[in-house]
Parts: sequence; C-alpha cells; structure tokens
Amino acid sequence: EFLRKAGVVTGANKGIGLAIVRQLALQYPKSPLHSGPFLIYLTARDQGRGEAALKDLHDDVQLKKAKALKSDGGESEIRYHQLDITDRKSVESFAAHLKQEHGDGVDFVINNAGIAMNGFDANIVKTTLGCNYYNTVEACHMFLPLLKPEGRIVNVASMSGHLNKYADDIRNRFLAAKSESDITSIMKDFASAVEAGKEKEAGFPSAAYAVSKAGLIGATKALARAEEEKGSKILVNACCPGYVNTDMTKGNGTKSPDEGAQTPVLLALADIKGTTGGFWQHEKPIEW
Ligand code: NDP
Repeated sequence: EFLRKAGVVTGANKGIGLAIVRQLALQYPKSPLHSGPFLIYLTARDQGRGEAALKDLHDDVQLKKAKALKSDGGESEIRYHQLDITDRKSVESFAAHLKQEHGDGVDFVINNAGIAMNGFDANIVKTTLGCNYYNTVEACHMFLPLLKPEGRIVNVASMSGHLNKYADDIRNRFLAAKSESDITSIMKDFASAVEAGKEKEAGFPSAAYAVSKAGLIGATKALARAEEEKGSKILVNACCPGYVNTDMTKGNGTKSPDEGAQTPVLLALADIKGTTGGFWQHEKPIEW
C-alpha cells in the first residue's frame, strides 16, 4: 500500500476516462513513464456501469498479456468507487473514503467527467456550466487537500475552450483573470446574456460546452496560481485530449480513446518540469 501511487479518474466507466484508467494500468510493470505500480480509483456516477467497466478491464486481453493487474500477477489494482460530481453527498462521501484510506494523500486526480448536450438555450447552459465548470471546479477544491504535497490535478478541458471564438473584450477578460472568482463572473455574465438572448452581442459564442470548457481552463490557471502563492508544489493543468471517438462525438472522432488518454496520463505521471496552470494538447503546452 505504501509504495503504490494512488490516483483517481472521474467519469471513468467509458470513453476517454476508461482509456485513461487502462493506460495507467499499462504503465506498470512495463513502464514508459517509469511510474507505478498504482492503486487507481475508477469512479463513475452509476454503480452498474462502473462495475461493468471494471470487469471489462479485468477481461482485457492487453492488460492480461502485460500482467498489469494484481489478479494477473501485476501489482497495480483498480477499484471502483461511486462518484457523481453533480451530487454533493456523493462527492463528500468519496472525499471521506479517500481521507480514511490515504492518510498521506493521493498522487493525482484526473477530472475527466463532462457532458455535451444537444441544442442551445438557457437551461442547457445552466446544466452544462453546472457539470463542466462549477462542479468540476468544486471537485478540484474537494481533492486539493487530499493530495500529496507534490500531487497533481489534471482537468480534461477541450480545444473548444480556446479563446479564438470570443470578441476581444471577453478574451481579454479571460486572459486578465487572476482568480477563480474572475472566471466565475465571466460564466455568470454568459449565463445572463443567454437568458436575455444577447450572448452574441456580449461577445460570446452561442455554445454552452465551449464556454464551460473555456471556464475550466481559466479556473485551472487560477487554481494553479493560488497553489503557487501558498507555496504549494501541487501541479494543476488542463488539456484537450484531441478529437476522440467516443459516445460524446457519436463515432466521429479521429483518435482512439487510448490516444486521447495520452496527454491526461502524461500530465498525471511524467516529468513536466514543474509546469502548472498550463493548457496542453498533443502532450505539449499551448497558448490559450
Ligand atoms: P463520454 O460521453 O464518452 O464519457 C463521459 C463520461 O463522463 C462518462 O463516463 C459519463 O458517465 C461521465 N459523467 C458525465 N457526467 C458525470 C457526472 N455528473 N459525474 C460523474 N461522471 C459523469 O465522453 P468522452 O469520453 O468523449 O469525454 C471525456 C472528457 O473529455 C469530457 O470532459 C469531454 O468534454 C472531454 N473531451 C472529449 C473530446 C472528444 O473528442 N471525445 C474532445 C475534447 C474534450 P455516464 O456513462 O454515467 O454518462
């Protein structure tokens, strides 16, 4: 228990989250990133889907061949735990579990859970900002005190959160934001502008998902800055996994989930030279 690194992946029952868990398991004993063994928490909001995903990993031919998991001779282990990031009770009960099991803290958390809804109206904006921005940032606050002193948070954002779609004044507001509350006030202004049917005039795209991910990138930078100011060595980064073939992209993605997992896994495990507050794509930091 002492030697294993412990990590958490949210929304891990399918898609990129599941592939992240799989790639983490494959890092040991054959270890491209020289890391592991691991205790990986595969978390999911639905117990049936989470446990089915865990079973699939235990039946996975490549994992078996690599003897990646305990039951196959490896020393890494995957455990399912329920976590719905939009449900405060669920978040609190997972936090309590981690606190009890990992007195020294966990090594990394990959906030992968996210939603993309069809259509555009004020309700869709509320739900999308709720999960992808507010609840994901709250999850960061919940996890930060549960991390080891040099632990990491990886937020799976998106290139759709890039600032190239905004009018100059909104883009400059994002770039000038110093704190999480500066970013939250942009999210609030977006939601109010949508209520009034005036988001375009206000300089925003008519796109709930894109704005939620821009918010997440901005909040990642703000959280990283706040950690640095406290003298903490925790690294907080955001990334785009690429355009990945999952249920979210309805089979249109050009990367496999395993390829999509690469940048998040790198940010959790690799020597990233202390980079924090970065926005990464294709395993490299990019301009926002
Ligand atoms: P999927 O829709 O395939 O998977 C999303 C996962 O998130 C599912 O496990 C889902 O659970 C889970 N989830 C949704 N809401 C919650 C919640 N409230 N609490 C916990 N888990 C939740 O999408 P992808 O795998 O494609 O996406 C993973 C991440 O990558 C997302 O954040 C997405 O925005 C991002 N991304 C994806 C891209 C792509 O091309 N696919 C591109 C850029 C970013 P359930 O099965 O129960 O619904």
